[in-house]
Amino acid sequence: MKTLIKNCNLISMSEKKEKYEECVDILINNDKIEKIDKNIIKENCDKVIDARGKVVMPGLINTHTHIAMSIFRDTLDGYGLQEWLNDRIWPMEDKLNQEDVYYASLLSCIEMIKGGTTCFNDQYFMTDSTIKAVLQTNMKIHCTRALMNVNGNGEEKLNELEQLINKYSGYDDNIKINVGIHSLYTCTKEYVKKAVELAKKYNLYVHMHFAENSKELEDIKRIHKTNAPINLLEEYFKGIDLVLAHCVKVQPKEMNRLKNLKLSVAHCPVSNLKLGCGIAKIKDFMVNGINIAIRN
Ligand SMILES: [Zn+2]
Repeated sequence: MKTLIKNCNLISMSEKKEKYEECVDILINNDKIEKIDKNIIKENCDKVIDARGKVVMPGLINTHTHIAMSIFRDTLDGYGLQEWLNDRIWPMEDKLNQEDVYYASLLSCIEMIKGGTTCFNDQYFMTDSTIKAVLQTNMKIHCTRALMNVNGNGEEKLNELEQLINKYSGYDDNIKINVGIHSLYTCTKEYVKKAVELAKKYNLYVHMHFAENSKELEDIKRIHKTNAPINLLEEYFKGIDLVLAHCVKVQPKEMNRLKNLKLSVAHCPVSNLKLGCGIAKIKDFMVNGINIAIRN
């Protein structure tokens, strides 16, 4: 099938072409871009889209989501992170079923597509239901079964994740599973080590919340018996690809240690402002050559 997009404003990530071109045509042949040029003739095209006044660009990637939480949006304002999570969100999540997670995920997929996001990195549970929504909307997902063991059932969650890894291996190019550790304040040292072993076994990256607010850092110090939570990143995750969400409370003097890790920071300013956590020192990360991704 040949599709021709006419007269679009193109933002290209190509090294060979201009980054921005006005009023160009794009010829797509069976899901592959065949030609980008001015005035491509529309004969033999099955579909022609008039994109005058519109932008065509690569899809955005949302690097930290819990998309099924869209149904909780605007229900809880004015709480700090721990009260919001422990006392409000987790009790509501206990009542969710597969159908809730499916429809909530579908809602978020539709919203993301409308905003230009085509791929996202999700950390939640009932993952099959989120994947079902993704397959239906032709999006791409990196996802997991969120791991934590402070409230019990840690082993079950690990088993569930390993089953997901095997189930979706080679299943669909748009579905990728990673190892989602909820955080160091909800996981013991022994449990984190088991999760990292799983990441090594299947050559997967780890996606985790880190340094979202000051209380979290105090909890990590107590649970993991350390003076500096940043030490744990070096101890537990050496050689592992890491996506760390938030990183609000990482100090500038700690940056030059982080750059020795295989780390990307998922910057989440909207969440951080909603829960009164502050803003990550993005410029300091960038000056130290640490990759910054964004939750849009
Ligand atoms: Zn999160």
